[in-house]
Amino acid sequence: MAEDEYDYIFKVLLIGNSDVGKSSLILRYVDQIWNDVFVPTIGVDFKVKSIEVDKKLVKMQIWDTAGQERFRNVISSYFKGAHGILLIYDITSRESFKELENWLGEVERHASSQVLKILIGNKCDLEEKRAIQKDEGEAFAMRNGMQFIETSAKNNTNVSEAFEALAKIMVESSNKRNAIKIEKKNIKVEKGADLNVKKKNCC
Ligand code: GDP
Repeated sequence: MAEDEYDYIFKVLLIGNSDVGKSSLILRYVDQIWNDVFVPTIGVDFKVKSIEVDKKLVKMQIWDTAGQERFRNVISSYFKGAHGILLIYDITSRESFKELENWLGEVERHASSQVLKILIGNKCDLEEKRAIQKDEGEAFAMRNGMQFIETSAKNNTNVSEAFEALAKIMVESSNKRNAIKIEKKNIKVEKGADLNVKKKNCC
């Protein structure tokens, strides 16, 4: 298949506090890289990963906030046109978990109301330093209508599963929206056809 052939193209964002592991998750998923000492800045706006979902080719543009999460006014531009969001906290950091409410607020303010979200508790390899129990993550996700997955970019636990779960719900949602569009179009055509009939009959 040619480079530019795909069935779906989605813009995906990773958001959450600094140091929760956003760049590490992207590098692990897209480039299969783990670097314990130094996480290179991604250096480009986004990375592209193509996968198959239900026999369809899905191209994901995966955006990192590249450390700019500290400048909340800059971040609004990242949300434009996003289809999916991985909202990330660090299971060893209560602070990063507390900030989730604020991040959801940013999503509400800047993203489309149809954007799909999954909650990620990263660094699940650090069990001995765990500050947020799995139940607590699960409950937060449920309250906010999201799926929940714990990951480790370091041990490569559930990383592709997290991105693929998001891809799956983006495909499902896109299919649903298209079906509604087609249905609306058909209704319009039917109405138009009706009008023509009436016109013909009336004169
Ligand atoms: P970002 O600021 O959210 O992009 O976070 P980074 O990807 O730069 O990671 C911040 C720090 O956490 C780095 O020292 C990473 O090596 C470390 N880190 C990231 N993911 C994991 C993980 O799953 N497990 C562990 N133990 N450390 C991680």
